[in-house]
Amino acid sequence: MVLAPLEALDLGELRIDVLDGGSLAFSIERPGKRIALELAVRPLLVRTSEWSCLIDPGFGPADPRRRERFQLRDPVPLEEQLDRLGVAQPDHVLLTHLHFDHAAGVLAGSAHGMRDDGDVEEARFPGAEHHVHPLEWDAAMREQRGGDLAARIERALSRLPKSLPSDGTVLGTPGHAPRIDVELASGHTEGLVAVWMHGTEGTAMFAADLVPTRKFLGARLDRMADQAPELARDSRIALLRRCEREHAFVLFYHDRDVAFARIEADATLRDTWHVQRDADFR
Ligand SMILES: [Zn+2]
Repeated sequence: MVLAPLEALDLGELRIDVLDGGSLAFSIERPGKRIALELAVRPLLVRTSEWSCLIDPGFGPADPRRRERFQLRDPVPLEEQLDRLGVAQPDHVLLTHLHFDHAAGVLAGSAHGMRDDGDVEEARFPGAEHHVHPLEWDAAMREQRGGDLAARIERALSRLPKSLPSDGTVLGTPGHAPRIDVELASGHTEGLVAVWMHGTEGTAMFAADLVPTRKFLGARLDRMADQAPELARDSRIALLRRCEREHAFVLFYHDRDVAFARIEADATLRDTWHVQRDADFR
């Protein structure tokens, strides 16, 4: 599989670099057929002159069972990619939700699997402030979600991550660009947040697994991936309507070919959007 080259989006005093988080592949059973899926993993580095924020750092060490089941392909280490971009450590790490392919990358570990020798895992970016929505955190703790990620992250950081608001500014000043806002967008999980990145000249929206690829640019019901499919569909539509209205870029974490795009409404189908062609990607 060949990934699209790394890309960057300059929104005016706020820059988003799309990193290579490797890939995962698996198949799902449907009546009478087997569907093979291959997904990209695209962590984001968001920077202004004041701060840097890494969003969803990928699957990281992951355990051997997940490595095999999802045929994980490791990327060039994120540390190296960040280094190349002139960032030794991000100031902030924001996790949209606590599934392993988005959040396990905050832990350090060997490429061959997490430690099983009883050692405490270490934080990969110990100097960074970590952010998770409390609803997501509590659910992940309760269900030992993502390989008991919440408990492992708490041990590695020796503290709780900072609680994301359900609707509000996380970095920057409310109402002013550049800034990062989040909004609770339930359905895929309880506490997934969508991230709105506002520059002085444009906006981008990252909804992680609510809009993971271009196939999700509409009123799609995904009974396999979404915990509450109807709620996820409603959250998805509300986010995409706002993207259309605000002419915002949509970032696709799992799309193999397109990292981000502006969208336009279908001429006839309600709540259906397409990637805008000939868009000005600056
Ligand atoms: Zn995912």
